[in-house]
Amino acid sequence: MADKGILIVVSGFSGAGKGTLMKRLLNTYDNYALSISMTTRSPREGERDGIEYFFVDREQFEERIEQNGLIEYAEYCGNYYGTPRAYVEEQLAAGKDVVLEIEIQGALKVKKQFPESLLLFVTPPSAQELERRLKGRGTETDEVIARRLARAYEESQGMEAYDYIVVNDDLDTCVEEIHRLVDAARRVPVRRSTFIKEIREELKGFAKGAE
Ligand code: 5GP
Repeated sequence: MADKGILIVVSGFSGAGKGTLMKRLLNTYDNYALSISMTTRSPREGERDGIEYFFVDREQFEERIEQNGLIEYAEYCGNYYGTPRAYVEEQLAAGKDVVLEIEIQGALKVKKQFPESLLLFVTPPSAQELERRLKGRGTETDEVIARRLARAYEESQGMEAYDYIVVNDDLDTCVEEIHRLVDAARRVPVRRSTFIKEIREELKGFAKGAE
């Protein structure tokens, strides 16, 4: 039996380019599955229900919480965001490395529940570059941008909780770096418990034969 996939949590300042990075990662390698979150925020232009997010109202979201249907959830800038449980568990069991693109409160909750998860924090090379990218997106009002920058400052307080900091300067380099980190994480014994058990069992057979 193969080991389960790795649960990869990717956080980073809003505007750090996580969305684009994750799309590129999934298009380049075939071992990843991206979890689609549920949110009460309104869709941005071009966003489709069931693709970027499952867009729901607060009542539907709270119902999902009560059914224990979310691995974690958090409030971010006045809206709920959460990770549906079933998809993540199915994909991990099938050996896929599942990516959750979530903010820091959610990331810490995941780490508590799944100590073997891998926490990556994506950041642009500087705060100035972050502001430039947020403004360049052209989809948010100045007020929202200011709120997101303030939130970024708050989130910077939690960066030490992550396993790795990944600087997103060049997209392709960053995608490769993430893939290498995941690959290295796969070799850590705590994530190879099935393999260890199996080879130990086999060796036990040989050891008995030599007695
Ligand atoms: P946005 O509104 O820009 O799409 O997302 C806002 C923030 O919510 C981002 O930092 C994003 O990573 C985070 N987020 C998206 N989905 C989830 C989720 O399921 N759970 C948590 N905790 N955060 C999420």
